[in-house]
Amino acid sequence: MKRVTILGATGSIGLRTLELVSSFSDEFSVAGLAARGSNVERMADLCRKYAPTAVALLDDGARDALARLLPAPRPELLAGPAGLVSLCRDVPADVVVSALVGGAGLLPTMAAIEAGRTLALANKETLVMAGRLMTSAARERGIPLLPVDSEHSAIFQCLEGHRRSEVERILLTASGGPFRTSSKAELARVSVAAALNHPTWKMGAKITVDSATLMNKGLEVIEARWLFDVAPERVQVIVHPQSIVHSMVEYVDGSVIAQLGVADMGIPILYALTYPHRLPCPAERLDLTRLGALTFEAPDPDRFPCLALARQALEVGDCAPAILNAANEIAVAAFLAGQVGFMRIPELIAEALERVPNRALDGIEACVDVDAETRGLVRGLIPSVALAGAGAR
Ligand code: NAD
Ligand code: MG
Repeated sequence: MKRVTILGATGSIGLRTLELVSSFSDEFSVAGLAARGSNVERMADLCRKYAPTAVALLDDGARDALARLLPAPRPELLAGPAGLVSLCRDVPADVVVSALVGGAGLLPTMAAIEAGRTLALANKETLVMAGRLMTSAARERGIPLLPVDSEHSAIFQCLEGHRRSEVERILLTASGGPFRTSSKAELARVSVAAALNHPTWKMGAKITVDSATLMNKGLEVIEARWLFDVAPERVQVIVHPQSIVHSMVEYVDGSVIAQLGVADMGIPILYALTYPHRLPCPAERLDLTRLGALTFEAPDPDRFPCLALARQALEVGDCAPAILNAANEIAVAAFLAGQVGFMRIPELIAEALERVPNRALDGIEACVDVDAETRGLVRGLIPSVALAGAGAR
């Protein structure tokens, strides 16, 4: 029986993970659950269903509300950023699924690594911010960082049983998002609803917008660099609108090995939970004859500048990817709130990369400081809702 702690339990990845725990109740039990706390009723339902040892909510008030909803005996209830860290560090678990969205996952995820827990990593923003620190901390303790991101799970599987020294390139596939064929003029006017209408995957709002700008793929290039210790120029992004080939690895002899499957995060989540074994995932099966064609094309750097910004930050190194990430989080939140247009997202990120001083990534504090400074700067560049437009007043 594996005890699983889930950070971001009420989110898209968290809930899919819990469905898998239900499907394989002889294999998994729930150790800890963490979430922001915006939906206390849902967390109470999850506690009744999965009987975790402990729950951590970011919001103190939400923790108290949860206590009122759950009569004793109830799980240990923790709150605040320190509560999330404590959940990862102090509550025994065999695997921690890191599936908070954004930089908020950094300290708890590091705490899980430092406590020696196997990590199933969905929260790519943490690796973008502190990839070198996280991978070296995991290496020191001999802990696997198992990818949950579908592309990285695919690459991980394509690398299994092969020599790393014989890898020529990683071919990272991207759906292209809802605006794959939109013109630049159309992109400047897209609505929030259109950006949230992803053609192949159902995910949380932030990653769905990232998929529309292609920043998600930029973050994934950085994620691949750290997870697989590969030079960034060896990671090629290929747009594949059907989201069936989840990524590929090309070897020096010209052989290309791909991993395919339906677009269901259950498959990579379950593989991270059961690695190196496999279980029959309750997911639709791939029927290639019904699909017909799989197509591939190059991404357009002109319409989707986020991809180049991410590569630029990776090349600059140190805390530049943390600046990129923080600026993107604030810009995406502002887009979702109707405060800025879609094409303002890459502009804000470029401005942050120019204006926030980079510094040596000599510890997690540097990362946390740069993250805060960037958020402050970018917030200052965004008009308040009241100024945004006629409808807002
Ligand atoms: P989501 O928005 O659906 O869920 C986010 C979860 O994190 C929620 O439980 C929320 O309560 C919690 N959370 C958010 N901010 C928090 C904070 N400050 N403190 C504590 N908890 C907080 O997001 P998602 O789509 O499940 O994505 C989660 C992570 O997984 C992201 O990093 C995303 O890039 C990655 N990912 C998601 C998918 C997918 O299919 N959804 C695929 C690949 C990678
Ligand atoms: Mg992905």
